[in-house]
Amino acid sequence: MGRDCPFCAIVAGESKAEVVYENDRCLAFRDISPQAPRHVLIVPKEHIPSIDQVEDPTLWISIMAAVREVVNRISPDSGYRLVVNCGEDAGQTVPHLHVHLLSGRPMGWPPG
Ligand code: AMP
Ligand code: ZN
Repeated sequence: MGRDCPFCAIVAGESKAEVVYENDRCLAFRDISPQAPRHVLIVPKEHIPSIDQVEDPTLWISIMAAVREVVNRISPDSGYRLVVNCGEDAGQTVPHLHVHLLSGRPMGWPPG
């Protein structure tokens, strides 16, 4: 568990979150500051600071399986976007790997 990591605290049940899905390696919960009508974060239960520190590539199977489950549950009718911010320039603010799943509004490209 990462010290003072907000997502480790959620995984440990020490902080509240609106969990939408869980499998053996991942947890999915609503973003506290949603940037779209539906905004869910999919995180590994293990503390991994960013996408650069994934040592076991099979973790992505669990993460993407969780993404599929969440997509099925929130039923986006007209598409969705997955985002993984890595590092300062990308705007990563929580140093625990997470995939953003955003849907429910049209989105621009390129991202800001
Ligand atoms: P990033 O900027 O990619 O690191 O995204 C971090 C995301 O975590 C932001 O969208 C925050 O709103 C979200 N977030 C931070 N703390 C919490 C929390 N306790 N519960 C749910 N989402 C959170
Ligand atoms: Zn953590």
